[in-house]
Amino acid sequence: MPYFKKETQKADFAKLEEDILELWDREKTFERSVDLREGCDKFVFVEGPPTANGLPHPGHILTRVVKDLVLRYKTMRGFYVKRKAGWDTHGLPVEIEVEKELGITSKQEIEKYGIEKFNQKCKESVFRYEKEWVNATKRVGFWIDMDDPYITFENDYIESVWWSLKEIWNKGLLYKGHKVVPFCPRCETTLSSHEVAQGYQDVEDPSVYVKFKLKQENDESEPLYLLAWTTTPWTLLGNIALAVHPSHTYVKVRVNVKDEDRVKEDVLILAEARLDVLEGEYEIIERFSGNDLEDLKYEPLFDFAKIEGGEAHKVITADFVTLDEGTGIVHTAPAFGEVDYEVCREKKLGFSQPVSIDGHFTHEVPPLEGMFVKDADKLIIDMLTQRGILYKEERYLHSYPFCWRCDSPLLYYARESWFIAMKSLRDNLLANNEKINWYPEHLKHGRFGNFLDDIEDWALSRERFWGTPLNIWVCNDCGQRYCVGSIKELQEKAKNSVPSDIDLHRPYIDDVVLECDACGGDMRRVKDVIDCWYDSGSAPFAQWHYPFEVEEFKQNFPAHFITEAIDQTRGWFYSLLGVSTAIFDAPPYLNVLSLGHILDEKGVKMSKSKGNVVDMNTLYDTEAADALRWYLFTAGPLTDDIRFSAQAIREKQKKFLNTLWNSYFFFVTYATIDQFSPKDKSIPVEQRNAIDRWLISRLNTLTKDVIDALERFELHVASRKIEEFTINDLSNWYIRRSRRRFWIVEENFDKDCAYLTLYEVLVSLCKLLAPFAPFVTEHIYQNLVRSVLEDELESVHLCDYPSPDESLIKVELEDSMELISKLVEAGRRARSDAGIKIRQPLKEVVVTCGKDKREKGEGLAEILKEEVNVREVLFKDEEFLMSGAAAEGDYKQVEVDEETRLFLDCCPDKNLIEEGLVRDIVRRTQGMRKDLDLEYTEKIEIMYVCDEEVKEAIHNFSDYIRNETLAVSIEEETPSNSAEDAESGHIYEKRWKIGEKEVSLAIKPLSSVERDKNISTREK
Ligand SMILES: [Zn+2]
Ligand SMILES: [Zn+2]
Repeated sequence: MPYFKKETQKADFAKLEEDILELWDREKTFERSVDLREGCDKFVFVEGPPTANGLPHPGHILTRVVKDLVLRYKTMRGFYVKRKAGWDTHGLPVEIEVEKELGITSKQEIEKYGIEKFNQKCKESVFRYEKEWVNATKRVGFWIDMDDPYITFENDYIESVWWSLKEIWNKGLLYKGHKVVPFCPRCETTLSSHEVAQGYQDVEDPSVYVKFKLKQENDESEPLYLLAWTTTPWTLLGNIALAVHPSHTYVKVRVNVKDEDRVKEDVLILAEARLDVLEGEYEIIERFSGNDLEDLKYEPLFDFAKIEGGEAHKVITADFVTLDEGTGIVHTAPAFGEVDYEVCREKKLGFSQPVSIDGHFTHEVPPLEGMFVKDADKLIIDMLTQRGILYKEERYLHSYPFCWRCDSPLLYYARESWFIAMKSLRDNLLANNEKINWYPEHLKHGRFGNFLDDIEDWALSRERFWGTPLNIWVCNDCGQRYCVGSIKELQEKAKNSVPSDIDLHRPYIDDVVLECDACGGDMRRVKDVIDCWYDSGSAPFAQWHYPFEVEEFKQNFPAHFITEAIDQTRGWFYSLLGVSTAIFDAPPYLNVLSLGHILDEKGVKMSKSKGNVVDMNTLYDTEAADALRWYLFTAGPLTDDIRFSAQAIREKQKKFLNTLWNSYFFFVTYATIDQFSPKDKSIPVEQRNAIDRWLISRLNTLTKDVIDALERFELHVASRKIEEFTINDLSNWYIRRSRRRFWIVEENFDKDCAYLTLYEVLVSLCKLLAPFAPFVTEHIYQNLVRSVLEDELESVHLCDYPSPDESLIKVELEDSMELISKLVEAGRRARSDAGIKIRQPLKEVVVTCGKDKREKGEGLAEILKEEVNVREVLFKDEEFLMSGAAAEGDYKQVEVDEETRLFLDCCPDKNLIEEGLVRDIVRRTQGMRKDLDLEYTEKIEIMYVCDEEVKEAIHNFSDYIRNETLAVSIEEETPSNSAEDAESGHIYEKRWKIGEKEVSLAIKPLSSVERDKNISTREK
């Protein structure tokens, strides 16, 4: 008959995990766990695709283990959970890495190098660290199908993206606009608003007050200046207008200004509410409203740049002018500000753009030509100073957006760009967001909802190389535009022949010329590629090549669950919702779990530049993946940031995994000795001992709680409950209290109850814990279940998740045990207050409490008796207190709660004192057995030397000592007299001080004695 395999007392978890990985490989456990549920209800998950052009860091590992936990759990709960991996492969980040590698920094250099070669390099680089990603994913136990991932650069994927853009095009939501957009001069491309939102930093910029000279009818008049303020002096080169608020009050003031050595008077105009920007004395000459200033003309600050399309250099009125800062007169440059652009268009003013797309001044501005705009600030300020029109200069600390990818300051810059009209879908976005459950919930109407409230049109096009090409062709002759939605359509419309396996990337796609429907002329593709966030936002349908293949998408939309770090709120979480709303007007996911960031042990965000990133690849050489996972799950709400260090993981392993292992080891050790098999034993729970019923009740309560928490994605609540159960209920209470039941040698009903209970609980706990710690639970399952029950499922991960058996949940029993454990704690406190060690037996404890508690406590009084080591436990009511009995005895009193008190009798009689002494001797003897590494069943002889009092105690309790220590004899003797034994090393002697007494103990193992089972007791 098969039995459990013996285990080692200390587990090598890292080694164990390697073995389990091999087992899973060999038995295709992952694939089978998925296939097993085919035909069941679906639980749909979409993998947020990482980019494999860098190594995975702890943040990636966090999202991967969280995904794994949820998906394993749902699978065990009976759902069919497909797990398709995905790779995000396009976009600027990839291009930038390749530029670095090639040592080039501009678009011209890429074109010179060759787009074909460049894109080839990009394609290769996105899988540079694929192996590391696959290994890390596997090693941490994330089950996902990496053999058949979706890849955003594949033709099928691009074709689906094209289809979706054509849908948007057909709805009239894809348009070309001339708009001021945030623009990275280094990457030479626009950024979408959600990209901008990721990169704000506090910076100090110059803050300048500039005097614009009003044109007056009489040239001889005293000069009059409008005082305007800006923090971006370089934009003054594009100045077209000055804006004032129509109804605010403005004033004309006379001020003294220092000009070289002499003091000169100036007359300035500014808002009255902003007078405190002036320095020194001033005198108000006149008051008027903003309206009175409208249409006044002023002299241009510079006269280099040419102005197109309308008037310039006049005062306009606008409601956006505020009095919070500046002068109430706003410098307006339509080429460099979104609001500026809108207002100038409305007022039909002109436009001046003296800056090229790499952020450098053009030849239109000879003194600044070729300078990067931000670097030109100082020179511009000097020019203004020399001409006496700079009123003052300060430094200004403000929040400014930087490129989230390359860290360059962004410029707001009027560009032609393709947009998706998301603003017009705002209500749909908000309505679809209502259908999504957010974890944590506050994001729904907070960070995310607010973002949707202010949603802007999606700047979709990128003037770059490595990306999904924008599928719009324009006729050279008549300007007609056409959006292509599939490869087939491309072939049909093309003038040249297009193979069906054409690489849809640049430069190949750029060579495809279409025939214009309107005039028969040549249509060429716009040069742009699209925002890679649109790619990943298309994952729900593009990973299935929808609508060219229909079935998978139909069955897998919307997703039930996605999770990524919180920075994806404005990234992937948004792009998914944006794309899905534009195309299907439906939410693409129903539950989204947003995770916190990983910080180092000091609470600092991990980053390459700070050098505090934990190397995940070497971590597993020493730390178990289960310990890592368990640490992350229990650290706190996963929606918060988590501190991370190898040390913290190690401690987690000590605290939790080792406790679990010890409990399992305890069971296997005794079950092996007793050849216990769960196969031929069955005892109804109600016939078992109270503590068994209690543990089973606790297990079922735990199961309920864990499922409740997991359904709410409160992984930390679930895992902490399992940890508490394992450490407190199972190990520290049940096993510790039940040990003696396993030591009995004969066939015994109570022993069988204990074996069955511990066995059932360990197996159930394994299943509960399997999604959290997949390795150690598999190992335990293999031994506890597979070693003895060959008909059971081959892996714990193929099992159903336990469901609570309500009939086994005994709330009263749990309450009683909780009360007892509180009383035990109080009893121990009373002992320590009285300075009496736990091994000294005492006469009694008296508990005073109400009737309700008394009933709860009395049933389990035996446990209290043993734990507090007293002969008797008495429950009494308040009368005990009144009667004065409490005061008469030598009681130590401890308050348990408001209505409950515990009184410990602290006066042991002679018999109790002797027993206390003897218990100390037993404990020392057992320690000595351990020192010698004796087998559990090894018998010994004991010899002792001590005073009369101790001798008498030993004499009176000699049966007890022999039973507890497996001694065949206990004699007063000086062992060193026996020279022969001492030499042979058969005798182990030690001197002890027990309280006031000196005792010398020696033990002699009887290894010659046959180790049969026919002994009265076994040692723990
Ligand atoms: Zn950039
Ligand atoms: Zn045409």
